[in-house]
Order: sequence, then C-alpha cells, then structure tokens
Amino acid sequence: MVYEMNKDWDRFNGIGMTSARTRARMVARLREQGIKDEVVLTAMNAVPRHIFVEESLAIRAYEDTPLPIGKGQTISQPWVVARMSELARNGKPLGEVLEIGTGSGYQTAVLALFAERVYTVERVASLVAKARRHLRDLGLTNVAISHGDGAAGFSEPLEVDAILVTAGASVLPEVLLGYLKPNGRMVLPLADEKTGQDGEPIQRLKVIERTSTGFREQTFEAVRFVPLLPGVA
Ligand code: SAH
Repeated sequence: MVYEMNKDWDRFNGIGMTSARTRARMVARLREQGIKDEVVLTAMNAVPRHIFVEESLAIRAYEDTPLPIGKGQTISQPWVVARMSELARNGKPLGEVLEIGTGSGYQTAVLALFAERVYTVERVASLVAKARRHLRDLGLTNVAISHGDGAAGFSEPLEVDAILVTAGASVLPEVLLGYLKPNGRMVLPLADEKTGQDGEPIQRLKVIERTSTGFREQTFEAVRFVPLLPGVA
C-alpha cells in the first residue's frame, strides 16, 4: 500500500519545470516506456525529485536522465528508479528493503512510500549528510541511512525482503545474498562479458531470487550505473 501522502509535500512544488504537472508528465513518460506497476508510478508522482539535485539543476530534474549530485556520483534516471522498484516489488507489498548506494536519497524516498522500512547505505560521507537532510525534509520516518561500504556486509544481523544495489557491480556481491529472506530478491546492475562501443562493459539489470533450493537469476535491460566501489570516502 502506498504511504498516505501528506499534503504538506505540496509546499515543494514550484512552477514550470519543478511543478506537479511536470512530475505528472514524467510519470506519463514512464508509462509509455513500459513501467506498469501503479504503486511505483503513484510513488514517483508523489516524490518531489527536484529537491534531490542542486538548485541549478532542479529545472532538469524530471528529464529522463541521470544528473550529477557531487563527488562524481549521479542521481539515477527516473526510468531506472522505476524499473528497479518494479522488479523489487514484483507486484507484491514490500516489507524491509536494503539499498546499497543512497546517493541523493531519491530512490530511497520512492521505496519508503511502499516498503515498510528502508535501510540505505552510502560510502561517501558528504552524500550521506545531504541525503539525510532531504529525507528529513520530506518527513519520512521509515528510513535509516548509514555511512559505510554496503558491499562488504554488515556486523549486525539483517534479513530483508529486497535488496537494491544502485551502483554497477563488476562481480556479484555474493555476501549480500545472505541477507535475503526466503523468496527475497536482489535487484542490481551487473557487468556482463561483452563490452559496448565505448569499450566499457555492458551492465544489465539482474534479479536474483532466493528459492527453497537456492537462487534463481533473471536478466533484464541494459543500463549504465556509476561503479560499486570498495571502502568509504
Ligand atoms: N540511488 C541513488 C543512486 C546514486 S549513484 C539515487 O537515486 O540518487 C550510486 C551511489 O552508490 C553513489 O552515491 C556511490 O557513492 C554509492 N556507492 C558506490 N559503491 C558503494 C558501496 N560499496 N557502498 C555504498 N555505497 C556505494
């Protein structure tokens, strides 16, 4: 169920390119691009994406493109956020979710509208601080952000229904599979053996689902993410 939206979010709506109408146009485009999950579309229609980017870029926030958020990182393009959310939900309500790569916090906010609880981890301290501020401005209370290397595993026990890795992995971060509940799914961009025209490996969205006997892997669209990196900064 989508979190009951607080009318309070209307105060973030600007005019023109930061208005609710521009956001609705983004959602209409996502539908044309094949996103079908109405719960995800409703959440993306609610979250003011423009507050997650620098003020000078706010007018471009609803374009279907990644945008810089500082420290060489990017906010994922709307289609990617929608597609990963749709693959994580798989048409069913989500309980607890772990996100690796908070970045701007936008994907986190979208998830927070339909998951019971979102744990998100970011390796760059200055991005953690900014994301925390934005999520606090929205008054989202079911989110916990931490600073750390999310691909290295955690010292605390953790069991979640879904994991979203929002940075491109060159090898499968197997340690994360251990945090999935039975039937839980991890959605991530993973490099395949082929390289694109630019010589960079092609990344594809993968879903790895924990089954009663092991793991099942499915491959989806080609995507482009900044790399999943070790350690903290
Ligand atoms: N979900 C974000 C996408 C940000 S880009 C958004 O919607 O804005 C990916 C982010 O992953 C970057 O901020 C990068 O610093 C972070 N990242 C890369 N490797 C990581 C790791 N091992 N642990 C945690 N965060 C990582």
